Amino acid sequence: MSRNAFSTRGLTKVYGEGETAVHALRGVDLDIPEGEFVVLLGPSGSGKSTLLNIIGGLDRATAGDAWFLDQELTAMTDRQLTRYRRDHVGFVFQFYNLMPSLTAHENVELVTEIAEDPMTAEAALDLVGLANRAGHFPSELSGGEQQRVAIARAIAKNPTVLFCDEPTGALDSATGRAVLTALKDVNERLGATVMIVTHAAATAKMADRVIHFSDGAIREVVSNATKLAPEDIEW
Ligand code: ADP
Repeated sequence: MSRNAFSTRGLTKVYGEGETAVHALRGVDLDIPEGEFVVLLGPSGSGKSTLLNIIGGLDRATAGDAWFLDQELTAMTDRQLTRYRRDHVGFVFQFYNLMPSLTAHENVELVTEIAEDPMTAEAALDLVGLANRAGHFPSELSGGEQQRVAIARAIAKNPTVLFCDEPTGALDSATGRAVLTALKDVNERLGATVMIVTHAAATAKMADRVIHFSDGAIREVVSNATKLAPEDIEW
């Protein structure tokens, strides 16, 4: 039996106070086994990013507990959370956040220079099918290629988990499929647990597990008996 990469119990996040308080997470109980490809699906504003940011060590819960393996994230100091992110977590966001004045290779190197056990920038770019674009600047790459550079940057440190917030949100369907293929490769070849937050239901068909989220709570968790390949997903 595999261990859980993440567990949460009663995870709660409230922004603000009093009458204007926003209840972004309303007591989330979640278990995500190591090595799974998980899609967190729900409408905009339902709390998906908030959940991702807390288990990714970027934000703090108001109440409840969250664990990464046997480490209690909700008990960590800011320093410990920073270390957790540095050593274990890769992030991919909707807007690629690449440095415009650096080449693809140099953007990935920003990470490999400070990581504990990195792969080479070449290997990371090769994994996302961009070895031949290493010397290009972001402005010379398509949106899908820029996102794959961002994935290469996120995986170059050999992360235990890869969190992706609307990774295909700014892409057309063909480039979106290329990005999803790259994420699937990372999951299968590196064994990283991958968690994608999206409101695009099509993405769920390639997941091991789909967590349906609305209004700050889990509505349903579905394990897919059969998974579609990214190229077979209809958008
Ligand atoms: P999703 O990722 O599903 O779109 P979010 O987690 O971004 O949802 O947001 C959940 C709710 O929390 C929304 O109502 C949003 O407006 C609110 N929210 C998110 N971040 C903040 C913040 N920093 N301050 C106040 N409210 C926030």
